Amino acid sequence: MLIAHRIALDPTDKQRTYFARASGAARFSYNWALGEWKRQYLARKDDPSLPAPSDASLRRQLNALKREQFPWMFDVTKCAAQEAIIDLGGAFRAFFEKRGKYPRFKKRGVHDSFCAANEAGTFSVDGNKIKLPVIGWVRMREAVRFTGKLKRVTVSREADRWFASLMVETDDVKSVLQPQAVVGVDLGVSTLATLSQGEAIPGPKAHKVLLKRLRRANKAMARKVHAARKAQRKFGTNISKVRRKLARLHARIGNIRRDATHKATTMLAKTFRRIGIEDLNVRGMARNRCLARSIMDGGFFEFRRQLEYKARFYGATVVVADRWFPSSKTCSCCGSVKAELALSQRIFKCDNCGLEIGRDLNAARNLENLAASSESAVSACGEARSGAVRKSRVKRASVKQEPDSKAVA
Ligand SMILES: [Zn+2]
Repeated sequence: MLIAHRIALDPTDKQRTYFARASGAARFSYNWALGEWKRQYLARKDDPSLPAPSDASLRRQLNALKREQFPWMFDVTKCAAQEAIIDLGGAFRAFFEKRGKYPRFKKRGVHDSFCAANEAGTFSVDGNKIKLPVIGWVRMREAVRFTGKLKRVTVSREADRWFASLMVETDDVKSVLQPQAVVGVDLGVSTLATLSQGEAIPGPKAHKVLLKRLRRANKAMARKVHAARKAQRKFGTNISKVRRKLARLHARIGNIRRDATHKATTMLAKTFRRIGIEDLNVRGMARNRCLARSIMDGGFFEFRRQLEYKARFYGATVVVADRWFPSSKTCSCCGSVKAELALSQRIFKCDNCGLEIGRDLNAARNLENLAASSESAVSACGEARSGAVRKSRVKRASVKQEPDSKAVA
């Protein structure tokens, strides 16, 4: 399986300049190939005998005219152009298979990056160093944590920092620490996650301070832009300074968040064999204004993405409840479902059995029950089901006494 490992780089000034130029070559090639793709596609409508554009043909075409027309490309690794066009091919495939949007031209300064594939040893890693084509050894903040074959590296910029994202092909799937354990995880607003065992994982603290600063910088930015527009001035250095500051803050907040999520998801995937989580209807909730920010903070989507790939790595299973599963409204003790439960109500009180329990913990326990019961349901019908559990089954999943055979819809 493939694992991506993202590591911050410590480049010298010369290396930074090189990274920017290689990213420029990658962006140029991507845009060139996208323009050609469109042109050749249209030309084919008039003359169907012309060959259909593909990333392979465009790579050959660019190589053929590079020396004549774009000699500056030889200053950077040829991988930058090649991999960019391979990526474009991937983007078109995603579009044709209805997984993605139609590819768009890349802008300077937005997601600057370039890639190198590890064919014939174009790059290598030695402890805290990575050797990249043309520029040579670059310092990394940490060593690669996984053993296996390095397939590809993406060097990318985030605000004023550079990162290497390494694709590692590894087959040493580790096994979970508690092979019998099932857990339900409720992703939260005030805490990052609550586990059905009662443990709560707090959200990152440094976050709040930075968010305050971000709000202030945002306001300053809006004021300056407004003043410039009013006076019909061009945006000056002050504005670009604030803009850079904003970008740095965004990057730092993102990193803190990602770090906290990584820690939590690694712990979960390492420890438990089955993990029940909720499929939050993120779009529906984001419409609710006061919840919107918390959702961004929690990065629920990112949490699930990380948990799923790490679970594969450790051999755990993630059971995702569908979004109609009443994890908050169901009593985790007797299974009776409340008609209404306001978001402000932090304690769940069951009218049926009298249970009083924290709202998040109750939800986590329901998700644990779901994860446990879906397993017996799968083994009972003898087929492995992955992904979302169907609605009909989910609703019954909270009733513990239900015989397994009936639980299969
Ligand atoms: Zn109850």
